[in-house]
Amino acid sequence: MKLTAIIPCYNEESALRYFYEEMERVMRSMPQVDFELLFVNDGSKDNTLEQIKALSVRDERVKYISFSRNFGKEAAIYAGLEHSDGDLTAIMDADLQDPPSLLPRMYQAIVEEGYDSVATRRVNRKGEPPIRSFFARNFYRLMNRISKTDIVDGARDYRLMNRAFVNALLEMGEYNRFSKGLFGWVGFETKWLEFENVERVAGETKWSFWKLFLYSIDGIVAFSTMPLSIAAFFGVMMCLVAAGAILFIIIRQLLYGGSAFGWPSMVCIIMFLGGIQLLCMGILGSYLAKTYLEVKKRPIYICKETNLSGRNGERDE
Ligand code: UDP
Ligand code: MG
Repeated sequence: MKLTAIIPCYNEESALRYFYEEMERVMRSMPQVDFELLFVNDGSKDNTLEQIKALSVRDERVKYISFSRNFGKEAAIYAGLEHSDGDLTAIMDADLQDPPSLLPRMYQAIVEEGYDSVATRRVNRKGEPPIRSFFARNFYRLMNRISKTDIVDGARDYRLMNRAFVNALLEMGEYNRFSKGLFGWVGFETKWLEFENVERVAGETKWSFWKLFLYSIDGIVAFSTMPLSIAAFFGVMMCLVAAGAILFIIIRQLLYGGSAFGWPSMVCIIMFLGGIQLLCMGILGSYLAKTYLEVKKRPIYICKETNLSGRNGERDE
Protein backbone atom coordinates (compact mmCIF):
# COMPACT_ATOMS: atom_id res chain seq x y z
CA MET A 1 0.00 0.00 0.00
CA LYS A 2 1.38 3.40 -0.97
CA LEU A 3 1.28 6.37 1.36
CA THR A 4 2.11 9.86 0.14
CA ALA A 5 2.98 12.39 2.84
CA ILE A 6 2.54 16.00 1.75
CA ILE A 7 4.83 18.41 3.58
CA PRO A 8 4.33 22.15 2.89
CA CYS A 9 7.60 23.97 3.55
CA TYR A 10 8.21 27.66 3.73
CA ASN A 11 11.64 28.67 5.04
CA GLU A 12 12.11 25.42 6.90
CA GLU A 13 15.84 24.90 6.39
CA SER A 14 16.49 24.47 10.11
CA ALA A 15 13.62 22.06 10.74
CA LEU A 16 13.85 19.78 7.69
CA ARG A 17 16.75 17.75 8.99
CA TYR A 18 14.90 16.81 12.19
CA PHE A 19 11.75 16.14 10.27
CA TYR A 20 13.44 13.72 7.92
CA GLU A 21 15.23 11.90 10.75
CA GLU A 22 11.99 11.41 12.64
CA MET A 23 10.11 10.40 9.49
CA GLU A 24 12.75 7.86 8.65
CA ARG A 25 12.31 6.24 12.04
CA VAL A 26 8.58 6.02 11.51
CA MET A 27 8.96 4.71 7.96
CA ARG A 28 11.26 1.98 9.20
CA SER A 29 8.67 0.95 11.80
CA MET A 30 6.06 0.53 9.06
CA PRO A 31 7.70 -1.79 6.51
CA GLN A 32 4.33 -2.84 5.06
CA VAL A 33 3.84 0.67 3.66
CA ASP A 34 5.43 2.05 0.51
CA PHE A 35 6.17 5.66 1.49
CA GLU A 36 6.57 8.76 -0.64
CA LEU A 37 7.56 12.09 0.91
CA LEU A 38 6.19 14.88 -1.23
CA PHE A 39 7.75 18.17 -0.12
CA VAL A 40 6.06 21.28 -1.44
CA ASN A 41 8.46 24.19 -1.37
CA ASP A 42 6.25 27.23 -1.07
CA GLY A 43 8.67 29.81 -2.46
CA SER A 44 11.15 29.62 0.41
CA LYS A 45 13.78 32.32 0.56
CA ASP A 46 16.35 30.20 2.38
CA ASN A 47 18.02 26.91 1.53
CA THR A 48 14.93 24.75 1.92
CA LEU A 49 14.86 23.72 -1.73
CA GLU A 50 18.56 22.78 -1.80
CA GLN A 51 18.04 20.68 1.30
CA ILE A 52 15.06 18.89 -0.19
CA LYS A 53 17.04 18.23 -3.37
CA ALA A 54 19.91 16.82 -1.33
CA LEU A 55 17.46 14.51 0.43
CA SER A 56 15.98 13.42 -2.89
CA VAL A 57 19.41 12.40 -4.14
CA ARG A 58 19.97 10.28 -1.04
CA ASP A 59 16.49 8.84 -0.82
CA GLU A 60 14.38 8.12 -3.88
CA ARG A 61 11.19 8.24 -1.82
CA VAL A 62 11.69 12.00 -1.56
CA LYS A 63 9.81 13.99 -4.19
CA TYR A 64 9.29 17.72 -4.42
CA ILE A 65 7.28 20.43 -6.10
CA SER A 66 8.70 23.92 -5.95
CA PHE A 67 6.55 27.01 -6.43
CA SER A 68 7.54 30.11 -8.35
CA ARG A 69 6.80 32.24 -5.25
CA ASN A 70 5.10 31.99 -1.87
CA PHE A 71 1.48 31.00 -2.48
CA GLY A 72 0.58 30.08 1.10
CA LYS A 73 0.11 26.82 2.94
CA GLU A 74 -3.36 26.20 1.50
CA ALA A 75 -1.98 26.32 -2.04
CA ALA A 76 0.85 24.00 -1.02
CA ILE A 77 -1.63 21.50 0.37
CA TYR A 78 -3.67 21.67 -2.82
CA ALA A 79 -0.61 21.11 -5.01
CA GLY A 80 0.35 18.14 -2.88
CA LEU A 81 -3.11 16.61 -3.08
CA GLU A 82 -3.17 17.09 -6.82
CA HIS A 83 0.09 15.23 -7.25
CA SER A 84 -0.44 12.53 -4.67
CA ASP A 85 -1.12 9.15 -6.27
CA GLY A 86 -0.91 7.05 -3.11
CA ASP A 87 -3.73 4.88 -1.79
CA LEU A 88 -3.38 6.94 1.35
CA THR A 89 -2.35 10.58 1.64
CA ALA A 90 -1.14 12.42 4.71
CA ILE A 91 -0.67 16.14 5.22
CA MET A 92 1.90 17.16 7.81
CA ASP A 93 3.90 20.21 8.86
CA ALA A 94 7.65 20.27 8.46
CA ASP A 95 8.31 21.54 11.99
CA LEU A 96 7.37 18.28 13.80
CA GLN A 97 4.37 19.96 15.40
CA ASP A 98 2.42 17.17 13.71
CA PRO A 99 4.14 14.18 15.33
CA PRO A 100 4.99 11.51 12.70
CA SER A 101 4.83 8.95 15.53
CA LEU A 102 1.03 9.11 15.25
CA LEU A 103 1.15 7.72 11.69
CA PRO A 104 1.02 4.02 12.65
CA ARG A 105 -2.16 4.60 14.66
CA MET A 106 -3.67 6.65 11.87
CA TYR A 107 -2.78 3.99 9.33
CA GLN A 108 -4.40 1.34 11.51
CA ALA A 109 -7.62 3.32 11.82
CA ILE A 110 -8.03 3.50 8.05
CA VAL A 111 -6.79 0.07 7.04
CA GLU A 112 -8.18 -2.01 9.91
CA GLU A 113 -11.03 0.01 11.38
CA GLY A 114 -12.40 1.14 8.02
CA TYR A 115 -12.38 4.91 8.50
CA ASP A 116 -12.00 7.18 5.46
CA SER A 117 -9.80 9.69 7.20
CA VAL A 118 -8.08 10.23 10.50
CA ALA A 119 -7.78 13.77 11.81
CA THR A 120 -5.84 15.09 14.74
CA ARG A 121 -6.47 17.77 17.28
CA ARG A 122 -4.29 19.10 19.99
CA VAL A 123 -5.89 19.16 23.39
CA ASN A 124 -4.00 22.19 24.68
CA ARG A 125 -2.16 25.18 23.32
CA LYS A 126 0.84 25.02 25.60
CA GLY A 127 3.66 27.31 24.54
CA GLU A 128 1.44 29.59 22.48
CA PRO A 129 0.96 33.29 23.32
CA PRO A 130 -2.24 33.65 25.42
CA ILE A 131 -3.76 36.32 23.16
CA ARG A 132 -3.38 34.04 20.16
CA SER A 133 -5.08 31.17 22.03
CA PHE A 134 -7.88 33.49 23.12
CA PHE A 135 -8.62 34.66 19.60
CA ALA A 136 -8.27 31.17 18.17
CA ARG A 137 -10.71 29.70 20.65
CA ASN A 138 -13.27 32.42 20.01
CA PHE A 139 -12.83 32.10 16.27
CA TYR A 140 -13.78 28.42 16.44
CA ARG A 141 -16.73 29.19 18.68
CA LEU A 142 -17.99 31.86 16.26
CA MET A 143 -17.33 29.71 13.22
CA ASN A 144 -19.36 26.82 14.58
CA ARG A 145 -22.22 29.10 15.40
CA ILE A 146 -22.41 30.79 11.99
CA SER A 147 -21.57 27.99 9.59
CA LYS A 148 -23.05 24.56 9.03
CA THR A 149 -19.70 22.86 8.65
CA ASP A 150 -18.22 21.49 11.82
CA ILE A 151 -14.84 22.98 12.61
CA VAL A 152 -13.16 21.50 15.63
CA ASP A 153 -11.21 23.68 18.05
CA GLY A 154 -7.55 22.74 18.06
CA ALA A 155 -7.91 20.70 14.87
CA ARG A 156 -4.68 20.54 12.88
CA ASP A 157 -4.30 20.10 9.17
CA TYR A 158 -2.47 16.87 10.07
CA ARG A 159 -4.55 14.13 8.50
CA LEU A 160 -4.41 10.77 6.82
CA MET A 161 -6.97 10.20 4.08
CA ASN A 162 -7.96 7.46 1.67
CA ARG A 163 -8.30 7.96 -2.08
CA ALA A 164 -12.01 8.75 -2.02
CA PHE A 165 -11.48 11.51 0.51
CA VAL A 166 -8.63 13.06 -1.48
CA ASN A 167 -10.65 12.95 -4.69
CA ALA A 168 -13.52 14.70 -2.95
CA LEU A 169 -11.16 17.44 -1.78
CA LEU A 170 -9.79 17.85 -5.30
CA GLU A 171 -13.32 18.28 -6.64
CA MET A 172 -13.30 21.59 -4.82
CA GLY A 173 -11.03 23.67 -6.98
CA GLU A 174 -11.92 26.92 -5.28
CA TYR A 175 -9.36 29.65 -5.05
CA ASN A 176 -10.19 30.82 -1.55
CA ARG A 177 -9.25 27.62 0.28
CA PHE A 178 -9.87 27.00 3.94
CA SER A 179 -8.86 23.39 4.46
CA LYS A 180 -10.20 22.98 7.97
CA GLY A 181 -13.63 23.77 6.59
CA LEU A 182 -13.22 21.71 3.41
CA PHE A 183 -12.27 18.62 5.42
CA GLY A 184 -15.53 18.86 7.33
CA TRP A 185 -17.56 19.76 4.28
CA VAL A 186 -16.76 16.61 2.29
CA GLY A 187 -18.12 14.36 5.03
CA PHE A 188 -17.01 10.69 5.20
CA GLU A 189 -16.17 8.78 8.37
CA THR A 190 -13.44 10.56 10.26
CA LYS A 191 -11.71 9.36 13.37
CA TRP A 192 -10.21 11.97 15.70
CA LEU A 193 -6.95 11.43 17.52
CA GLU A 194 -5.84 13.76 20.26
CA PHE A 195 -2.35 14.75 21.24
CA GLU A 196 -0.55 17.22 23.46
CA ASN A 197 0.72 20.35 21.75
CA VAL A 198 4.33 20.07 20.66
CA GLU A 199 6.50 23.10 20.14
CA ARG A 200 8.24 23.74 16.86
CA VAL A 201 11.52 21.84 16.63
CA ALA A 202 13.48 24.66 14.97
CA GLY A 203 12.91 27.86 13.05
CA GLU A 204 9.95 30.09 13.74
CA THR A 205 6.25 30.29 12.98
CA LYS A 206 5.25 31.75 9.61
CA TRP A 207 1.96 33.06 10.91
CA SER A 208 1.90 36.53 12.36
CA PHE A 209 -1.16 37.61 14.29
CA TRP A 210 -2.32 39.73 11.37
CA LYS A 211 -1.89 36.88 8.89
CA LEU A 212 -3.95 34.61 11.13
CA PHE A 213 -6.60 37.29 11.48
CA LEU A 214 -6.95 37.65 7.70
CA TYR A 215 -7.00 33.86 7.39
CA SER A 216 -9.88 33.69 9.87
CA ILE A 217 -11.84 36.23 7.80
CA ASP A 218 -11.17 34.07 4.73
CA GLY A 219 -12.55 31.12 6.64
CA ILE A 220 -15.72 32.93 7.61
CA VAL A 221 -16.34 34.29 4.12
CA ALA A 222 -15.71 30.86 2.60
CA PHE A 223 -17.98 28.92 4.91
CA SER A 224 -20.76 31.19 6.06
CA THR A 225 -23.12 33.74 4.60
CA MET A 226 -24.35 34.64 8.07
CA PRO A 227 -22.68 38.11 8.07
CA LEU A 228 -24.85 39.01 5.06
CA SER A 229 -27.97 37.89 6.89
CA ILE A 230 -26.95 39.89 9.94
CA ALA A 231 -26.54 42.98 7.75
CA ALA A 232 -30.02 42.47 6.31
CA PHE A 233 -31.43 41.90 9.78
CA PHE A 234 -29.87 45.17 10.96
CA GLY A 235 -31.52 46.95 8.05
CA VAL A 236 -34.96 45.63 8.95
CA MET A 237 -34.52 46.51 12.62
CA MET A 238 -33.47 50.05 11.73
CA CYS A 239 -36.55 50.49 9.53
CA LEU A 240 -38.77 49.41 12.41
CA VAL A 241 -37.07 51.81 14.81
CA ALA A 242 -37.40 54.62 12.24
CA ALA A 243 -41.11 53.87 11.75
CA GLY A 244 -41.63 54.07 15.51
CA ALA A 245 -39.73 57.37 15.68
CA ILE A 246 -41.78 58.89 12.82
CA LEU A 247 -45.02 57.98 14.54
CA PHE A 248 -43.72 59.46 17.77
CA ILE A 249 -42.75 62.75 16.11
CA ILE A 250 -46.06 63.11 14.24
CA ILE A 251 -48.05 62.53 17.41
CA ARG A 252 -45.88 64.91 19.42
CA GLN A 253 -46.23 67.57 16.71
CA LEU A 254 -50.01 67.24 16.75
CA LEU A 255 -50.20 67.42 20.54
CA TYR A 256 -47.55 70.03 21.37
CA GLY A 257 -46.36 71.62 18.09
CA GLY A 258 -42.85 73.09 17.53
CA SER A 259 -40.49 70.23 16.63
CA ALA A 260 -37.30 72.07 15.62
CA PHE A 261 -35.30 70.91 18.62
CA GLY A 262 -33.14 67.83 19.08
CA TRP A 263 -30.61 68.38 16.30
CA PRO A 264 -27.62 67.01 18.33
CA SER A 265 -29.39 63.69 18.70
CA MET A 266 -30.14 63.85 14.96
CA VAL A 267 -26.44 64.15 14.16
CA CYS A 268 -25.71 61.14 16.38
CA ILE A 269 -28.37 59.08 14.66
CA ILE A 270 -27.17 60.00 11.18
CA MET A 271 -23.59 59.16 12.05
CA PHE A 272 -24.62 55.88 13.65
CA LEU A 273 -26.65 54.86 10.62
CA GLY A 274 -23.87 55.98 8.29
CA GLY A 275 -21.50 53.74 10.21
CA ILE A 276 -23.80 50.76 10.01
CA GLN A 277 -24.28 51.29 6.28
CA LEU A 278 -20.57 51.41 5.66
CA LEU A 279 -20.07 48.30 7.79
CA CYS A 280 -22.70 46.42 5.80
CA MET A 281 -21.17 47.58 2.55
CA GLY A 282 -17.81 46.36 3.80
CA ILE A 283 -19.27 42.94 4.56
CA LEU A 284 -20.93 42.81 1.16
CA GLY A 285 -17.69 43.98 -0.40
CA SER A 286 -15.65 41.19 1.12
CA TYR A 287 -17.96 38.57 -0.39
CA LEU A 288 -17.87 40.37 -3.71
CA ALA A 289 -14.07 40.55 -3.59
CA LYS A 290 -13.85 36.80 -3.02
CA THR A 291 -16.28 36.21 -5.87
CA TYR A 292 -14.15 38.39 -8.11
CA LEU A 293 -11.03 36.37 -7.30
CA GLU A 294 -12.94 33.13 -7.83
CA VAL A 295 -14.33 34.26 -11.20
CA LYS A 296 -10.88 35.09 -12.52
CA LYS A 297 -9.99 31.40 -12.21
CA ARG A 298 -6.33 32.01 -11.67
CA PRO A 299 -4.27 28.93 -10.91
CA ILE A 300 -3.97 28.17 -7.21
CA TYR A 301 -0.21 27.80 -7.54
CA ILE A 302 2.52 27.88 -10.16
CA CYS A 303 5.03 25.07 -10.19
CA LYS A 304 8.57 26.08 -11.10
CA GLU A 305 10.30 22.74 -10.81
CA THR A 306 9.66 19.23 -9.63
CA ASN A 307 11.17 15.77 -9.75
CA LEU A 308 7.84 14.05 -10.24
CA SER A 309 8.23 12.42 -13.61
CA GLY A 310 5.06 11.96 -15.60
CA ARG A 311 3.14 13.98 -13.05
CA ASN A 312 5.34 16.92 -13.92
CA GLY A 313 3.34 19.98 -12.92
CA GLU A 314 0.67 18.93 -15.43
CA ARG A 315 -2.80 19.70 -14.18
CA ASP A 316 -5.73 17.92 -15.73
CA GLU A 317 -8.47 20.44 -16.29
N1 UDP B 1 3.82 27.08 5.45
C1 UDP B 1 3.79 27.16 4.06
N2 UDP B 1 3.54 28.38 3.48
C2 UDP B 1 3.34 29.52 4.20
C3 UDP B 1 3.36 29.42 5.63
C4 UDP B 1 3.62 28.19 6.20
O1 UDP B 1 3.95 26.17 3.37
O2 UDP B 1 3.15 30.57 3.62
C5 UDP B 1 4.10 25.77 6.09
C6 UDP B 1 5.27 25.76 7.05
O3 UDP B 1 6.48 25.54 6.39
C7 UDP B 1 4.92 24.63 8.00
C8 UDP B 1 3.40 24.69 8.03
O4 UDP B 1 3.00 25.42 6.87
O5 UDP B 1 5.32 23.36 7.50
C9 UDP B 1 2.87 25.34 9.30
O6 UDP B 1 3.47 26.61 9.49
P1 UDP B 1 3.93 27.11 10.91
O7 UDP B 1 4.58 25.99 11.66
O8 UDP B 1 4.75 28.33 10.69
O9 UDP B 1 2.56 27.48 11.59
P2 UDP B 1 2.12 27.21 13.11
O10 UDP B 1 2.44 25.77 13.41
O11 UDP B 1 2.91 28.15 13.94
O12 UDP B 1 0.64 27.48 13.11
MG1 MG C 1 4.17 24.92 13.24
